[in-house]
Amino acid sequence: MPSDCTTSPQDQQGETVADNSLINKHLLVASDFDQTLSFNDSGAVLSDLIGVPHFHEKVAGLARSNLVQQGGELAYLIRHDPEFRGVRRHDLAEAGRRVRLKKDIGAFVSFLERGIEGCRFSFFVVSAAPKEVICSALDGILPPERIFGTELDYDPRSGEVRAIARVAAGYGKVSVLEELEERLGTPPERTLYVGDGSSDVHVMLHVNNRDGFTIAVSENKLLARIAKSTVLSDSAFAVVVPILEQIVGWRRAQIRELFESYGLTLHGWEKSRTDRVTIQEVAPEPKDVVGCEASGND
Ligand SMILES: [Mg+2]
Repeated sequence: MPSDCTTSPQDQQGETVADNSLINKHLLVASDFDQTLSFNDSGAVLSDLIGVPHFHEKVAGLARSNLVQQGGELAYLIRHDPEFRGVRRHDLAEAGRRVRLKKDIGAFVSFLERGIEGCRFSFFVVSAAPKEVICSALDGILPPERIFGTELDYDPRSGEVRAIARVAAGYGKVSVLEELEERLGTPPERTLYVGDGSSDVHVMLHVNNRDGFTIAVSENKLLARIAKSTVLSDSAFAVVVPILEQIVGWRRAQIRELFESYGLTLHGWEKSRTDRVTIQEVAPEPKDVVGCEASGND
């Protein structure tokens, strides 16, 4: 992805040019939902709601078996685990209402809707969480047509989930992005993906491999190594920082001004590259070994 949204003339090919000086570059911005826009997993919220214990153990067991793509565990449980058989559409909507969202998602969506001079953004949520959960959680913030979640098929009589129509997990996220790129007519190097966990590894590798941009919003070690940028905050608006700094090429003062224009203050901005070091004492040499010191040979 180019570092500047108003760069060289050869970059103008295929772009909509608003006037001679302004190149209107169009970026596809896709974000995960669970723990990227929220603080907790939809599946854990749903399990608490319907009174099913040991959700995380069930997910860990499925992950060990590699039966489903990472992130797709909840969809599998809803369809196949007897304890989840009672889940209905209204339970998913209620779970969405109970999800604790990160701060300032509305401002983040508004920023992407408005765009900035030289760049416009199309924003979508691409998540393995059931679509009903995400639509309910983001009601009034993001319309359903901008949300790609796991789609379930319900029995019209019982309301029971009778099939999984589509899961946006693992490679499923890649296929959604490719569909969106085709629909929007944006090249892969103008795709930006934001995620938090190991279910985002596949899609981030894919986006990076095609010169797009990836942002991690967690300290997940595997993801932090893959993502081109990492930003940690309890506010969803923080993702604007790497977008403006590293993709658009704005200076810090400009970024602070933009935050203020949204009624927000960039209170703390600590840039760090952390070396994580664990130190242990060397185990003492066994004393009963004779002859090593005197030999003089390595
Ligand atoms: Mg996530």
